[in-house]
Amino acid sequence: MSLVTVIGAGPAGLRCAELIANEGFEVTVLEEHTTVGRPVQCAGLVSETGLSELELGLNQEDYVVNSIYGAKMVSPHNVVLKVRKKKPVAQVIDRFKFDQLLYKRALKAGAKVALGTKLIDITESSLFLEAKGRGELMKSNVVVAADGPNSLVRNTTHPKIGGESFVHGFQYRVEGSFDKKMVELHFGSYAKGFFAWVIPESETIARIGIGAKLGQDIEKRMKVFMQEKKFDVKILSKSSALIPVINPLKQLVGTNTLLLGDAAFQTKATTGGGIVMGLNAAEIAAESVANNLKHNSPLKEYENNIAPVNKELALHWKIRAYLNSLNDHKLDDLFAKAKNAGIEAFLEEHGDMDKPSRFVKKILLKPRLWGLAPTAMRFILG
Ligand SMILES: Cc1cc2nc3c(=O)[nH]c(=O)nc-3n(C[C@H](O)[C@H](O)[C@H](O)COP(=O)(O)OP(=O)(O)OC[C@H]3O[C@@H](n4cnc5c(N)ncnc54)[C@H](O)[C@@H]3O)c2cc1C
Repeated sequence: MSLVTVIGAGPAGLRCAELIANEGFEVTVLEEHTTVGRPVQCAGLVSETGLSELELGLNQEDYVVNSIYGAKMVSPHNVVLKVRKKKPVAQVIDRFKFDQLLYKRALKAGAKVALGTKLIDITESSLFLEAKGRGELMKSNVVVAADGPNSLVRNTTHPKIGGESFVHGFQYRVEGSFDKKMVELHFGSYAKGFFAWVIPESETIARIGIGAKLGQDIEKRMKVFMQEKKFDVKILSKSSALIPVINPLKQLVGTNTLLLGDAAFQTKATTGGGIVMGLNAAEIAAESVANNLKHNSPLKEYENNIAPVNKELALHWKIRAYLNSLNDHKLDDLFAKAKNAGIEAFLEEHGDMDKPSRFVKKILLKPRLWGLAPTAMRFILG
């Protein structure tokens, strides 16, 4: 019998395991792949404030590949918003190195990590596993399901969640010529329900990707986007995976299970970013598990304690749902209106990638931006 089992050695699962082990509890992480951090299926853009607020105890030099100072956002018919700050606002990380560092910290804290071990079924405290082609049965008091967007555990507890809750992400790593300080976000019908991005690792290497609603040929959409923007690049590698894009789940706790990270839809529906949110949630989940083991407090506490994170995620979803309701021309109009109202200068001063609540209300306080007030009110009012 394992005391705590974490399914999935992604950032959320590893951080949660580290913190539970630090509390002195026995914790085992099960990971279906044989190497932590592979395959990489992520653009690796993380906000500077999000990273520093997390206090992971890692040295940024060990995993950051580039610092980002701003963003160029392009509407379907080329209305461009440019926001550029004097200090870095985000970091481009090497996801393999980042996950490996979290893995080492979890091991150092005393967590066991079983690689090449896949959860194939779960019924309360019984876990059915497959390792090296053989079936195994394992018992666990508490199970933290950090098993990513396709979470088997979540599919058991929430069988009705369907494909409409996901965006299909596709990304090339390319060689070309880039402004290494700026990311690009492109909106258009090639990326219906989401957007396309250019995230530079350097002046010569970038991650170019696209997200769109499931059920479309995503690689074909990527080609349309690349042709439309006339990128002159050499493709080095490609990857593709699901991104949860919906309201965060409220019911996160089963009899002895907790959902965490992408498995719990703890991703920002505006951008698809889930690293910072998942790591934040990992701290909350670890505390709830430790309180359960130490003081017998209900695991359900996690759902209350996660409420502030969920509130922010719900705001991301409202903004995403609003953007998705606009056709290309309406998106152009919104960009033009925002540009004329001075949104670029406003975002340079107040923008926050992770917490839109930090700036949405401020729009109402700037007379120049009152033209955007009806749009902002949508996100402020319930
Ligand atoms: C194309 C793309 C671009 C992205 N870009 C960004 C970005 O720029 N910034 C950002 O913040 N986020 C980004 N994300 C999202 C980010 O990658 C995720 O939010 C993050 O990885 C979630 O971490 P996690 O630990 O919850 O899950 P994951 O990282 O998905 O880890 C889950 C782990 O569980 C394992 N697993 C799954 N099922 C089982 C099983 N049955 N048994 C055992 N192990 C299992 C998997 O192998 C995996 O290692 C992007 C995602 C995609 C697809």
